[in-house]
Amino acid sequence: MYAVAVHVASVTQSEIQITLEVVVDVVNALNTSDVGVDVRAPFAEAGFSRSQSASQASVDRLGKRMQALAPLIDALPELADDDAATRINEELTELTISPSIVDHDGVGAHMHWTPATARFDDQVMADVVMALAYELCDNGTIRFGRCGADGCGRLFYDGTRNRSRRFCADSRCASRTHTADHRARKKQA
Ligand SMILES: [Zn+2]
Ligand SMILES: [Zn+2]
Repeated sequence: MYAVAVHVASVTQSEIQITLEVVVDVVNALNTSDVGVDVRAPFAEAGFSRSQSASQASVDRLGKRMQALAPLIDALPELADDDAATRINEELTELTISPSIVDHDGVGAHMHWTPATARFDDQVMADVVMALAYELCDNGTIRFGRCGADGCGRLFYDGTRNRSRRFCADSRCASRTHTADHRARKKQA
């Protein structure tokens, strides 16, 4: 018998994936809210350790900067790799990064793009734009998709190995589509 195959990602790969997933959640929230989005909670849940202690001013700046970046991220499923690279290169020129190799909390050596003294919003924006840049180099835009449920269209990031994701993080989208498919098949039968 074979053991269950475990996908062993490097620390960098798993951090990129975690970052892209929270970014997609924040973009979806920004797109569906007209009262603004508190970005502290989603980044805290995703394990951005400074989220809890960051000043409200820094969190507010991060919210505005994510709002400015949201149209680009939301367009990724439809953007060709070259065009996405051009757009992300523009964002890269805005970053002030100062990389170092660190190892903390037993996760293994990985890069930090900003020093520990960086403003929280600068740190997160560096992580976000660098994650987008790495993703573009590794996979292009193909892992960014749109929810297939009728009337949804929210963005998702597909981190599955065989790119089998069809729906956004809202579990209702998958279940109502499966119910509709099931009814359609029954009708045909
Ligand atoms: Zn780290
Ligand atoms: Zn959906």
